[in-house]
Amino acid sequence: MLSKPPLKIVLCSPRGFCAGVVRAIDTVERALALYGAPVYVRHEIVHNRYVVDNLRAKGAVFVEELDEIPDTKAPVVFSAHGVPKDVPEEAHRRNFFSLDATCPLVTKVHREAAIHYKRGREILLIGHSHHPEVVGTLGQLPEGAVSLIETTADAEAYQPKNPDNLAFVTQTTLSIDDTSGIVAVLRQRFPNISGPHKEDICYATTNRQAAVKKVAPIVDAMIVVGAPNSSNSLRLREVAEREGCKVAVLAQRASDIEWSQFEGIATLGLTAGASAPEVIVEEIMGAFAERYELSVETVSAAEENEFFPLPRALRPDAAE
Ligand code: SF4
Repeated sequence: MLSKPPLKIVLCSPRGFCAGVVRAIDTVERALALYGAPVYVRHEIVHNRYVVDNLRAKGAVFVEELDEIPDTKAPVVFSAHGVPKDVPEEAHRRNFFSLDATCPLVTKVHREAAIHYKRGREILLIGHSHHPEVVGTLGQLPEGAVSLIETTADAEAYQPKNPDNLAFVTQTTLSIDDTSGIVAVLRQRFPNISGPHKEDICYATTNRQAAVKKVAPIVDAMIVVGAPNSSNSLRLREVAEREGCKVAVLAQRASDIEWSQFEGIATLGLTAGASAPEVIVEEIMGAFAERYELSVETVSAAEENEFFPLPRALRPDAAE
């Protein structure tokens, strides 16, 4: 039998599930345990097919909009990305039992935007158009109150009504480097702009990008476990590429791997976006182990111990 070639896998740490994703998945699981199926979920609870399929198999019903849900007493969960204000209003109007799984770090951005609005400021949101988190944040305030800035070119071109009465907030899952470039342009053009100290990018996005920055320069290729609609997974792939990884790809399952891309490599970095479960990281390592003699090392960029409690109605001490 031919011996397998050696391959060193360098695991990025932290990787995979963040506290907001754990809370969102637990919200659906707990609602199913307490109330039984169906539990309706507006939008993919987190951007991961494996997670969504698992919950669907247990009785979750995924919809894109509330008008797809019949009149029901069953719980209706809002996804981790947050929702525009008119969604909970509509749920209330239809007497739905709604459970909000919006990540508390997204809710924090909603609150910041509301405070700026109350103070009469013109608000800029740095983020990617059409991402559900951006749709949700824009939808916290009346139409026209928030303008979207996607690039440094947008920041350079923006013409405010009053440059001394501006504020900015950001999406939580952006590239740290791209965002600091955009913020630098805004601060340079509008020195009196109000905003967070740096940006609103969350701890999980920050730490996962930091780990990829450490690993990418020392490996021949990088796999990011994550979905193509997962903003933080896409950013991890970009970071790996920018840090010099010639092959940096997203994979949702081991079956997505194009083995020809990895021919001749001696080292492979492996990470996972905040919505990707560790079981898929293991599945991919197993697929490499069939072809290579593996050695495994972990490179860590940060320790994490964040925990977000479930929505109040689902906590064990909640009144019946
Ligand atoms: S990636 Fe960040 S903002 Fe998004 S759910 Fe996780 S902790 Fe919350």
